[in-house]
Amino acid sequence: MTRSTNGFRVFAICTVCCLTIVSVAHLYLYEASEDAVARSMRYDIAWAGVNGRLEAAHLEKHVARYAALGDKKDADAARLFYDILRGRMELWGAGGFEQFIELSTKRQERFEALRDRVGGLAGDIDRLDEPDVQRRVLQALLEVAPMIDRIGGEAHTTSVAEAAAIRDELHHKQRLQRGLIIALLLSGAAFLVFMVLQNRSLRVAHLAAARQADELSFFANHDALTKLPNRRAFDAAFRTALESRRADEKIAIGAIDLDGFKVINDTIGHAAGDALLVAVSERLVSAATQLDRRNIVCRIGGDEFLALFWLADDTALALDVARQVVELLSQPFETAYGMMMIGASVGVDVSDAATSDELILNADLALTEAKAKGKGIALAFDRKMRAGQLRRLRIEADLDAALAGGQIVPHYQPQIDLASGCTVGVEALARWYHPELGPISPGEFIPIAEGSGAITRIGRLILEVACQDAARFPESIGVSVNLSVIQILKDDVVAAIRDVLAATGLAPDRLTLEITESVMMTDPEKVLNVLAQLKLVGVSVSLDDFGTGYSALGYLTRFAWDELKIDRSFIKRADSDPINLMIIRTVKELAQKMNARVTVEGVETREQRDLLRKIGCDTAQGYFFGHPVPVDELMPFLLRNNTATLDEGDAHPRAASSRLANPATP
Ligand code: C2E
Ligand code: CA
Ligand code: CA
Repeated sequence: MTRSTNGFRVFAICTVCCLTIVSVAHLYLYEASEDAVARSMRYDIAWAGVNGRLEAAHLEKHVARYAALGDKKDADAARLFYDILRGRMELWGAGGFEQFIELSTKRQERFEALRDRVGGLAGDIDRLDEPDVQRRVLQALLEVAPMIDRIGGEAHTTSVAEAAAIRDELHHKQRLQRGLIIALLLSGAAFLVFMVLQNRSLRVAHLAAARQADELSFFANHDALTKLPNRRAFDAAFRTALESRRADEKIAIGAIDLDGFKVINDTIGHAAGDALLVAVSERLVSAATQLDRRNIVCRIGGDEFLALFWLADDTALALDVARQVVELLSQPFETAYGMMMIGASVGVDVSDAATSDELILNADLALTEAKAKGKGIALAFDRKMRAGQLRRLRIEADLDAALAGGQIVPHYQPQIDLASGCTVGVEALARWYHPELGPISPGEFIPIAEGSGAITRIGRLILEVACQDAARFPESIGVSVNLSVIQILKDDVVAAIRDVLAATGLAPDRLTLEITESVMMTDPEKVLNVLAQLKLVGVSVSLDDFGTGYSALGYLTRFAWDELKIDRSFIKRADSDPINLMIIRTVKELAQKMNARVTVEGVETREQRDLLRKIGCDTAQGYFFGHPVPVDELMPFLLRNNTATLDEGDAHPRAASSRLANPATP
């Protein structure tokens, strides 16, 4: 752009310089031609010379006739021609003729002599009646004639030569002028071309500037990646919507946040993260506008979106819409980087519940609450959430002190071999007794710790303490420790486990690591790699909460799982809906083929235990057998009851019938 502008500038300067030079040269030439023409006029001496000779001849003729015929008319004519001749002499002595005469000193002398001679005839001309005088005058005229002839002849020759020179000069100048006119025309044409080019480049520049201005105004209101409106545009649209809505219409604001997006970004890469965000935004927009064309979705940064939904006069609809969004975003995304899965949490609030400013804040608060509740859910705003937010902030702030102060410790829940009724293992579950807030459930503080990064320290602590404790258990008792996705993807969990096993002396085959299905959703390749390394260490790996996610089935065959832990929701619903029992049975068969044991969580009744025993599940865990308890409470039980058959649930610590419910467990 700059280079072409410079080119144009140089071109324009050259053209204007050419035009100026040609114009000045033309002016100069014009003046020179005028001068030559003037000179041609001034030097018209041939005529003056010829006239002089004619006048002298007429004088001589009339004097001679008068002398011969005595006619008075001839005398008068002679006098007249004499006067004319004298006048001619005056003319010859002035102006252009004088210049010609002065060109040669000899000629000047001859002219002086001639003038004197003519002047000297004046007296004789007055007395022309006398024959002597007539003879003298004729004699004098005979002498004067060649003198006049000579000067007149020279004047003629000079004049002709001068005229020729001027003609040549004029010719030359004419040629030059023709050249100049051509140069002028060419310069003019060049200038014209320049103007056309300049015009075109101006038009192009104008179009480019207009396009740039359009782009600038677009990106002032839109997100560059997803092309969705940005927060600024959303606020404006939201205000307009509030002003223009009818009394029977409501506006809901949904705050949407993707679950685990950061992990995708950190592990698969930003390009894949971007592709996922674009796919998410496309799906969101198409779904939102299908509900109502006026609905708006905007991206307010990272993996956070805000949506504006127009609703008929039914506040309950807002939560329905929010749940649809969660469901919609839990379906896999096809991107250029392959199939990706992500979850989403949504918070909503409806227009009549708050002022406009509060609406977005409330939706945001509901979102935070949804995230804290374990993600992947939609919540409508509730005033109590403000207190919930304060509590979460408090928990996050107190986590480090709790770790340092030993407030966070593992409790152990027994795992029972269903065939023999023996306790074969325990699951370590983190417990936090806060000095002011009292017991805080891991369901509450683990997600907060995952958000703040404290989970890696909590995870290590539980792992270390659980391994230390397990080393003191009877050898037949294994220990299961939960691993967070953050530990697997961020922390060097393999080295940590090796170190802990070495430090505690616990045999690797007594340690089982539980990872949830949702971990597989984030970066399956990396997770599978870490799991394979863990197997090399010799520990067992268990797929926790099996049946609650979407992704695990595909990865079931890609890793040699040692255990599948069926989520407690299946056994809970098994009484009311036999399909759940069928699922448990199918999973049991599947696990058998994979050489994995099946553990069922959440067994709370004898009937449930009997059912599972009948199906042939390997192990079970639940309040029927015992609540999670501190190690001191567990130890005597383990030592005493390790070989007991389990016909009575209350033979175990804080079993369902012992009424010693753990206050921290849900
Ligand atoms: P989880 O790994 O699925 O643990 C089982 C949860 O079910 C525990 O809740 C346990 O107390 C509860 N439970 C056991 N038997 C029954 C029953 O019969 N009925 C019912 N209703 N619940 C039962 P808890 O201890 O509150 O832990 C909640 C979740 O917190 C755990 O789910 C686990 O995902 C996480 N968590 C706990 N400790 C840790 C830890 O040290 N590290 C990590 N990363 N996560 C942990
Ligand atoms: Ca677990
Ligand atoms: Ca579980």
